[in-house]
Amino acid sequence: MLEETEKIYYYDVIIVGGGPAGCSAALALKSTGLKVAILDKSEFPREKVCGELMQSNVIKTLLKMSPEIGTAFNQFEKKTQIKSTKLHYNGKSLVFKYKHESYTCRRIYFDDFLIQYVKKSTKTEFYLNKQVEKITIKDSTALISIKNSNTVYNTKIVIGADGANSVVAKYLAGKQMDRKHYFGSVRAFYKNIEGVNSDTVEIFFHKKHKVNYVWLFPLYNNYANVGFGMLSSKISKQKINIKNTFYDIINSSPVLSSRFQTAIQEGSLDGFGVPLASKVGKIHGNNFMLIGDAASLSNPISGTGIMNAVLSGKLAGEQVIKCFNENKFDDNFMSQYYQNLDKAILKQIKKSFFAQQILSRIPFILDIAFALLSIKWVHRKIEKRL
Ligand SMILES: Cc1cc2nc3c(=O)[nH]c(=O)nc-3n(C[C@H](O)[C@H](O)[C@H](O)COP(=O)(O)OP(=O)(O)OC[C@H]3O[C@@H](n4cnc5c(N)ncnc54)[C@H](O)[C@@H]3O)c2cc1C
Repeated sequence: MLEETEKIYYYDVIIVGGGPAGCSAALALKSTGLKVAILDKSEFPREKVCGELMQSNVIKTLLKMSPEIGTAFNQFEKKTQIKSTKLHYNGKSLVFKYKHESYTCRRIYFDDFLIQYVKKSTKTEFYLNKQVEKITIKDSTALISIKNSNTVYNTKIVIGADGANSVVAKYLAGKQMDRKHYFGSVRAFYKNIEGVNSDTVEIFFHKKHKVNYVWLFPLYNNYANVGFGMLSSKISKQKINIKNTFYDIINSSPVLSSRFQTAIQEGSLDGFGVPLASKVGKIHGNNFMLIGDAASLSNPISGTGIMNAVLSGKLAGEQVIKCFNENKFDDNFMSQYYQNLDKAILKQIKKSFFAQQILSRIPFILDIAFALLSIKWVHRKIEKRL
């Protein structure tokens, strides 16, 4: 139903999306005195389909913006500290111990924790249950309209943090899905999987289906998150049903099938897209920046994106401060955001993606990689980085 009278709100900065990227941008702006709002289509807590592993830099980056979040996070019960990764391939396994703190946490809890923290520790105003439908830029102001509403939000800078199907990216950057740089992914929650160690994430490489890998991540309260991802171009080209493939892998892999005999799936097997940083298109322009999945920043090798969502939120927040200090909001000035992101993550991602593309053409690459990783010197080198 349409509201009868049109309402107009003005903010210095509007962040569309209150996930990890959006909350991080709000935290980066907390002491600036700028008038900031977050619009999100959901009420929180809300689910987000994800593997739910948070690498060490997620918390480190949040701590840099707001050291007090450390105490709140320590008291937050629903997380699980992860101390190692176990890789499985062809009947063999390898364990890598972590030097830094990593966690798993159900996104329904973690994202709510973050949004409540931003509410308490900043002056950000929240408009939840507001689905952004359209955005236009007019006279150096972004005009944001909401579905089924006559309210219009006006702002000097809009930060698109609205995830894989970003409306901000569609309207302001002309972004379209590119299946060659996009994973289709599924995940389900299980209880009673045999042999789960609560501080170890497990990765299974699987020859038959040639999926990147299957993950099994332990969660709070003896749950585990199990899933996998695959390039969307391959899914559509080979007409793969990824939900059927998921159960096929669980049932046909000797190591998984024996461990899943007593396992109980809780809830449905859900899928969602992962836009990959192997192709980052336009992510800034006059009066706008894109962050997190809206900017396609998930790692093209691992599929993880929370860390880059948080980091890009921080960098976009820092760019906003420069914009207001210099009173410049044009595309050229915003390009500093891209340059900083490139230095911080994109250069490294491009290099490792290129290496992976070459290596993946080598026959028996998984056998070779596993043999190399078993060498003590290589093993120690990798552990130092975890
Ligand atoms: C199956 C799967 C497994 C994954 N596993 C991992 C993992 O283990 N580790 C990891 O680091 N990453 C993982 N990822 C990637 C990770 O989920 C994302 O990179 C991360 O959630 C990006 O955060 P974000 O804040 O950019 O977007 P999101 O978390 O998607 O948040 C976007 C927010 O925007 C809101 N929104 C969307 N559209 C609108 C609109 N039109 N108007 C208003 N609000 C809107 C949504 O309600 C949401 O709150 C996985 C992804 C998938 C699909």
